[in-house]
Amino acid sequence: MNISQFEKCADCGMCENICPKNAISVKEDGFYYRPVVDDSLCVDCGLCAGRCPVNREAEENELIAAYYAVNRDKETVWKSSSGGVFSALADIVLKENGVVFGAGFSSDSRKVVFLSTDETDLDSLRRSKYVESLTGKSFRQIETQLRQGRRALFCGTPCQAAGLREYLGKAYDNLIICDFLCGGLPSHRMYEDYLSDLENRFHSKVKSVNFRPKTFGWKEYAIKVTFDNGKEYLKQASLDPYFSSFLHRRLSIRDLCAECPFTKSHRSDITLADFWRYKSITGQDNDEGISMILVNTKNGLDAVENLKNSVSLDPLSNDQVAYVYKPHGLSKGYFEKRKAFLDECRLNGIVSAGEKYCVTKGSDAVKAYLRGISRKRSAKKLKK
Ligand SMILES: Cc1cc2nc3c(=O)[nH]c(=O)nc-3n(C[C@H](O)[C@H](O)[C@H](O)COP(=O)(O)OP(=O)(O)OC[C@H]3O[C@@H](n4cnc5c(N)ncnc54)[C@H](O)[C@@H]3O)c2cc1C
Repeated sequence: MNISQFEKCADCGMCENICPKNAISVKEDGFYYRPVVDDSLCVDCGLCAGRCPVNREAEENELIAAYYAVNRDKETVWKSSSGGVFSALADIVLKENGVVFGAGFSSDSRKVVFLSTDETDLDSLRRSKYVESLTGKSFRQIETQLRQGRRALFCGTPCQAAGLREYLGKAYDNLIICDFLCGGLPSHRMYEDYLSDLENRFHSKVKSVNFRPKTFGWKEYAIKVTFDNGKEYLKQASLDPYFSSFLHRRLSIRDLCAECPFTKSHRSDITLADFWRYKSITGQDNDEGISMILVNTKNGLDAVENLKNSVSLDPLSNDQVAYVYKPHGLSKGYFEKRKAFLDECRLNGIVSAGEKYCVTKGSDAVKAYLRGISRKRSAKKLKK
């Protein structure tokens, strides 16, 4: 059974979950994850290929409403990637004894896997992890909970949200599916190699990883890694070989992410994003974090209604958010550069490729460093 060509696979996990013979598992293939079929178990039922969201024509979703929003609890905002809306949605579901599914780190921080709040705390699911994530068998677990009448919230990439919809095959009133504007998922292999490099440099095992520490404020991305020996690595994204290869160059992302078919086709109830146009649209400034909420379904609208006590909500017009649906429009030059980057990764590893093609260098690096010092000071004051 050929599920979808590998370069077209989103690795959303739908096929692994839907296979009635458990014949599909996700394996490592080069830099990226890929579903593999065990032919000795496959009965050619066609469910995997038939329901694969990448194999379907991507239909544009209708935008019902849009807001910019901030969680009223400041501490939660500082702990979140943007304005902490995911946490507010989760709190409502958890108060009703529901369950929340999201992406967290494995215990050794080397993998990003889907976990539920039945297994871990909400804070482990907070914040963006800029690494390919494994949905595992979470779609099956969600279906079980929904059938038992329990409320559930799922938050993942647009392809994972589409995969979950396809897997379930019917609407559930007790489920909120949330996705986000997604710039793509970087290779897990590069991430693991990068961590190994840091472990060698710091002579210690990684204890925790945070891709959105807000140490330099919301607007300056940084990575913070702590080690068992108590040491800490804190670097602005533009100066870090792994983070800059994703955030500023988009060179480390999966093949499909480079031309994501879900940019205009969100199958979720709600799409979250960083509201980067806050200043240009409102004339005000903010460095703590503001979310944008795009409502895609009636179910999503009901969920947002319930947020009013815990989140400040201001409406945005369709025109004000139109920019988010524009395709990334990558040039021929991008694909040539990506090939050179991947070749260098194969030869000398991610750190070398990131240093060669991605990190800010020379006087720009000095400027970034100095900007970091001043932003760090301001963020510290703001947090008080
Ligand atoms: C890989 C990635 C790329 C993104 N690209 C953009 C972008 O280009 N533009 C933009 O405006 N916003 C982007 N976002 C979304 C943004 O960073 C915030 O996640 C979003 O605004 C929600 O913020 P929050 O404070 O409400 O929630 P948070 O507390 O940040 O919650 C984030 C949720 O994201 C999920 N998540 C985190 N990492 C992963 C992962 N690797 N795989 C699947 N799910 C994950 C978690 O399950 C969690 O539920 C991206 C997020 C990710 C993970």
